[in-house]
Amino acid sequence: MSIPATPVFRFAPSPNGELHLGHAYSAMLNARLAEATGGRLLVRIEDIDVTRCTPEFEADIFRDLAWLGIEWEEPVRRQSEHFAEYEALLLRLINAELVYPAFMSRGEIRAHIAEVEAKGRPWPRDPDGAPHYPAADKKFSRAERQRRIAKGAPFAWRLDTQAAIDRLDEPLFWQEFTDETLAETLAIQARPEDWGDVVIARREIPTSYHLSVVADDALQGITHVVRGRDLYAATGIQRLLQHLLGLPAPAYFHHRLIVGSDGRKLSKSLGASGVAALRQAGVSPAEVRRMVGL
Ligand code: GLU
Repeated sequence: MSIPATPVFRFAPSPNGELHLGHAYSAMLNARLAEATGGRLLVRIEDIDVTRCTPEFEADIFRDLAWLGIEWEEPVRRQSEHFAEYEALLLRLINAELVYPAFMSRGEIRAHIAEVEAKGRPWPRDPDGAPHYPAADKKFSRAERQRRIAKGAPFAWRLDTQAAIDRLDEPLFWQEFTDETLAETLAIQARPEDWGDVVIARREIPTSYHLSVVADDALQGITHVVRGRDLYAATGIQRLLQHLLGLPAPAYFHHRLIVGSDGRKLSKSLGASGVAALRQAGVSPAEVRRMVGL
């Protein structure tokens, strides 16, 4: 693999809750790796979910990162300010007939799956445990789709994952660093089929996590994506999108997750492991660093 002249790292929090120890570890690891490699560190605010993300959480994130001693470049990219750019990419996927409008509501999806499972047939689940979308809508004609959309029916744009895979000449791989030293990578085969037809955009928001993350990683010239192990499998879908949109693929390192005293993954509602709560309890940034094993 060719080594880029200046590595570019990013920490990409969503301002829909407070930073906890898991975020602190991820941010500090990115900062440490950027420093060790003579690279740059960007912070990106992933706030496409305008109903759950707030300016208050965003301000808290910057305050907590600064307190932890993280230094990042300004201006910070805020995804909610770039919907038109994501929509342009979405249009390319629509024109290539790689996405389709999916009209089934959550309740309809549940009922459909229950019916199949009642007949003793297993229903595929994605790596996060969510059932695959029942791709029944794919058989709608263009006219039927337009009729439903014109009528104001709620829908989401979903990737026709199998159609996209069928257009590949060969399997896709991504480069995954084997450890925190970033000395070596392994080629990992992307398995987008494990996800079924993921949401690429919504009617009200012309993007999704997967679409904006690949768009921004490319646009910001990210060379090293260092993020939690919980996003390892999602890399398969993101690699496919990069390929379909002709975007460069960064190398990845999916780091260990910080778990709570109960051994479970930390969540944004766990007050005691929140960075702000630790600061208020008199814990120092150096102690936080030790707590996350850095
Ligand atoms: N915004 C995502 C999160 O807060 C991280 C996305 C990424 O690192 O790719 O979980």
